[in-house]
Amino acid sequence: MKKNRSEIAEKNILQKTIESFSENKKAPIAGYVALVIVYIALIVATACKGSNSYISIAGGKIPVNAFAGILSAVSNICIILMVVYYKKLGFYTALTALILQIPMLSFSMLKNQSIAMIPGIFTDFLTIIAVILLYYNSYKNQKYQERIRDQAVTDRLTEIPNRFACSELVSSLIRRDDEFALVSIDLNNFKGINDTMGFNIGNKVLIEIASRWKSIADTGVSGTLDFITRIAGDEFSLIIRNYHSDDDIMNTIKQYEAALNRRLTIDNIDLYISASFGYAKYPTDANNLDSLFSYADAAMTEVKREGSGNHILRFSPELLKVERTLEIERKLRNALENETIYFNLQPQYSIDHKLRGFEALARMKDSDGNVISPGEFIPVAEKVGLIDKVDGMVMKKSATFFGELLKRSGADITLSVNVSVKHMMKNDFLDELREIINIGKLPANHLEVEITESVMIDSAEKALQCIEEIKKMGIKIAIDDFGTGYSSLSYLNKFPADLLKIDKSFVDDMNKDDSSKQYVAAIISIGHIMGLDVIAEGVEEEEQLASLKDIGCDYIQGFIWGRPLPMNEAERLVMSET
Ligand code: C2E
Ligand code: CA
Ligand code: CA
Repeated sequence: MKKNRSEIAEKNILQKTIESFSENKKAPIAGYVALVIVYIALIVATACKGSNSYISIAGGKIPVNAFAGILSAVSNICIILMVVYYKKLGFYTALTALILQIPMLSFSMLKNQSIAMIPGIFTDFLTIIAVILLYYNSYKNQKYQERIRDQAVTDRLTEIPNRFACSELVSSLIRRDDEFALVSIDLNNFKGINDTMGFNIGNKVLIEIASRWKSIADTGVSGTLDFITRIAGDEFSLIIRNYHSDDDIMNTIKQYEAALNRRLTIDNIDLYISASFGYAKYPTDANNLDSLFSYADAAMTEVKREGSGNHILRFSPELLKVERTLEIERKLRNALENETIYFNLQPQYSIDHKLRGFEALARMKDSDGNVISPGEFIPVAEKVGLIDKVDGMVMKKSATFFGELLKRSGADITLSVNVSVKHMMKNDFLDELREIINIGKLPANHLEVEITESVMIDSAEKALQCIEEIKKMGIKIAIDDFGTGYSSLSYLNKFPADLLKIDKSFVDDMNKDDSSKQYVAAIISIGHIMGLDVIAEGVEEEEQLASLKDIGCDYIQGFIWGRPLPMNEAERLVMSET
């Protein structure tokens, strides 16, 4: 019972959507009615041709008889159109009309005692043969098209519906706004089977699994209305409908999972196959086709990544973050390997607008040339332990460039580089710095290392030792993002820093109310008391600049006077300043 319901439902939806693509769209029924009416009218007109009626045209009278040829040609055209456009219905209508004409003509012949109707009857027979041939041909054509259509939506290997059928069904369910769950399924370690046992066995595994799953879908044992398709390789998709709760969806998926637990013997080899299932629901999780597929995939990929005993997972928005992080990590590793991490230089100015130097800011593009912001890739690099490589690459590349620029321009300017505390704590960090300085890439007094306040607190003592070493080399120290951490002033006072960088968030707020401005003024005073210069970051507006001047800020870094620049533009700026 269920089987019929589900099969018919699927077939209808698929058939309809696929037919909507084919050129052979159904002709409107109004056309059929019009053809029948015209045909009957013509038959009636032909029946009048024995009478002596006339039609007046342009003042002359033409006997109706003279139109006999035209009438018969047009009625034949009607017959042909019916068969061509209205297939079975048109064929049976035409056949009935033609067959009915035979007794009519015979009756007329007997009534008029004339054999004049014999050619008419003969023509009628010939037309019947023509109509049968025409219909037979178009029937064959239609069957052929149906076969092609079936092939287009069927996976050749497993003979279950394919990717195209899946996306068609999903689109049509979305169009009808029917609730459903889309499950993305991927076999675990299938590549291993292919690699070790060969494609032939791999194919047999896919066929067997597909057939087990198809029988669950077709028999409806799961209690929901299911549609299983093969997307590609060892990827399958399952569409689940007619469920009442999330538990129903879970139970259904568990049955598909359980089907893999039954022994799978192929060519006398016992194989153990498992799969990862991730699903997303329409419309709760996503309301369009692309998102549904990618969300179900994201859940499935997470199952694989976790590799725990849990094989089924529903999509949740957090997964997108995981996905994005993994994607960035991949791109980051790629960029590090190909050494395509590069840098921009943002100018820093004294409050009276003299160039102090530049901050080197890491930049990254993926292989398609899309820029990924440091706000995204720096935290990923920190998390996965690649930050020292990123810092190192920016430091080396920018120091080499800057050293040469100093030689060419003779300018007295500083290069600031960002160093993550994780990087700084590495044993070879000081060697990295020495290499930069000793090889003569950049004199120590033109280099500044920026360390954020917040991370310094976490690793106090060792960080302090390290900073002292850096300082001994003659390199300057800047405390970055000052004000965002919670370090005590006495603690900060121990750091042999040179520059305090006020975080952009304070600069943003400073003209909103008086107390924020007072706060920035307090930071500047504290900096000065500790013997440090103070630079304000993220200055964008004239008003902020005026206030900063007012409260005695020493330096400015912000879009107001300069955005991060590519090397050549930074060079031009230096040349124009000196
Ligand atoms: P940061 O060290 O605080 O760098 C300043 C950031 O503020 C830069 O963003 C810069 O473009 C931006 N900025 C400067 N002036 C303005 C302004 O007027 N308006 C606005 N809206 N933004 C301004 P960016 O380049 O996106 O860098 C973001 C963060 O990434 C940096 O913040 C830094 O923490 C980190 N970073 C960048 N390069 C490196 C690196 O080589 N190593 C490490 N460890 N971190 C880096
Ligand atoms: Ca910085
Ligand atoms: Ca900063």
